[in-house]
Amino acid sequence: MSICENCGEIRLVKLFRSPYEYLQCINYIKSLINDGGFELVTRNCPLNEVKDKDGCWADDIIYHVIKCKSCGQVYSCSCNTYRGGGGFEKGR
Ligand SMILES: [Zn+2]
Repeated sequence: MSICENCGEIRLVKLFRSPYEYLQCINYIKSLINDGGFELVTRNCPLNEVKDKDGCWADDIIYHVIKCKSCGQVYSCSCNTYRGGGGFEKGR
Protein backbone atom coordinates (compact mmCIF):
# COMPACT_ATOMS: atom_id res chain seq x y z
CA MET A 1 0.00 0.00 0.00
CA SER A 2 1.42 3.38 -0.93
CA ILE A 3 1.55 6.21 1.56
CA CYS A 4 -0.15 9.47 0.68
CA GLU A 5 2.38 12.29 0.41
CA ASN A 6 -0.04 14.78 1.87
CA CYS A 7 -1.19 12.92 4.97
CA GLY A 8 1.32 10.09 5.39
CA GLU A 9 3.17 11.96 8.11
CA ILE A 10 0.22 13.48 9.93
CA ARG A 11 0.83 13.58 13.69
CA LEU A 12 -1.91 11.58 15.40
CA VAL A 13 -2.53 11.44 19.15
CA LYS A 14 -3.75 8.20 20.71
CA LEU A 15 -4.88 9.83 23.94
CA PHE A 16 -4.94 13.44 25.09
CA ARG A 17 -3.35 13.47 28.52
CA SER A 18 -4.17 17.09 29.28
CA PRO A 19 -6.33 19.99 28.03
CA TYR A 20 -3.08 21.55 26.80
CA GLU A 21 -2.39 18.57 24.55
CA TYR A 22 -5.88 18.84 23.13
CA LEU A 23 -5.50 22.58 22.44
CA GLN A 24 -2.13 21.92 20.78
CA CYS A 25 -3.85 19.40 18.53
CA ILE A 26 -6.59 21.92 17.65
CA ASN A 27 -3.86 24.38 16.63
CA TYR A 28 -2.21 21.66 14.55
CA ILE A 29 -5.51 20.93 12.78
CA LYS A 30 -5.98 24.65 12.09
CA SER A 31 -2.51 24.76 10.51
CA LEU A 32 -3.24 21.66 8.39
CA ILE A 33 -6.37 23.38 7.02
CA ASN A 34 -4.67 26.76 6.58
CA ASP A 35 -1.84 25.13 4.64
CA GLY A 36 -4.44 23.96 2.13
CA GLY A 37 -4.02 20.18 2.17
CA PHE A 38 -7.03 19.35 4.35
CA GLU A 39 -10.62 20.38 4.68
CA LEU A 40 -12.97 20.33 7.65
CA VAL A 41 -15.88 17.98 6.96
CA THR A 42 -17.74 17.74 10.29
CA ARG A 43 -17.59 19.53 13.60
CA ASN A 44 -19.80 20.47 16.50
CA CYS A 45 -18.19 23.84 17.07
CA PRO A 46 -15.85 26.12 15.12
CA LEU A 47 -12.12 25.43 15.54
CA ASN A 48 -11.65 28.89 17.05
CA GLU A 49 -14.40 28.41 19.62
CA VAL A 50 -13.55 25.22 21.52
CA LYS A 51 -13.29 27.54 24.53
CA ASP A 52 -15.46 30.62 24.94
CA LYS A 53 -14.18 34.01 26.04
CA ASP A 54 -14.53 33.01 29.70
CA GLY A 55 -12.40 29.90 29.18
CA CYS A 56 -15.30 27.41 29.32
CA TRP A 57 -15.39 24.47 26.92
CA ALA A 58 -17.94 24.69 24.12
CA ASP A 59 -19.38 21.25 24.96
CA ASP A 60 -18.75 18.08 27.00
CA ILE A 61 -17.67 16.30 23.83
CA ILE A 62 -16.07 18.34 21.07
CA TYR A 63 -15.27 16.79 17.71
CA HIS A 64 -13.76 17.81 14.40
CA VAL A 65 -13.32 15.60 11.33
CA ILE A 66 -10.91 16.60 8.57
CA LYS A 67 -10.25 15.06 5.18
CA CYS A 68 -7.06 14.80 3.15
CA LYS A 69 -7.64 16.58 -0.16
CA SER A 70 -5.21 14.24 -1.95
CA CYS A 71 -6.45 10.77 -0.97
CA GLY A 72 -9.75 11.39 0.82
CA GLN A 73 -8.70 9.76 4.10
CA VAL A 74 -10.57 11.22 7.06
CA TYR A 75 -9.10 11.91 10.51
CA SER A 76 -11.13 12.58 13.63
CA CYS A 77 -10.25 14.66 16.63
CA SER A 78 -12.53 14.29 19.61
CA CYS A 79 -12.16 15.29 23.21
CA ASN A 80 -14.28 14.56 26.25
CA THR A 81 -13.80 17.83 28.12
CA TYR A 82 -15.93 16.59 31.03
CA ARG A 83 -14.35 13.24 31.88
CA GLY A 84 -11.07 13.64 30.01
CA GLY A 85 -9.86 11.49 27.16
CA GLY A 86 -10.14 11.60 23.41
CA GLY A 87 -7.57 11.73 20.66
CA PHE A 88 -6.80 12.45 17.04
CA GLU A 89 -7.03 9.31 14.94
CA LYS A 90 -7.55 7.89 11.48
CA GLY A 91 -11.16 7.33 10.48
CA ARG A 92 -14.44 8.63 11.76
ZN1 LIG B 1 -3.87 11.65 2.10
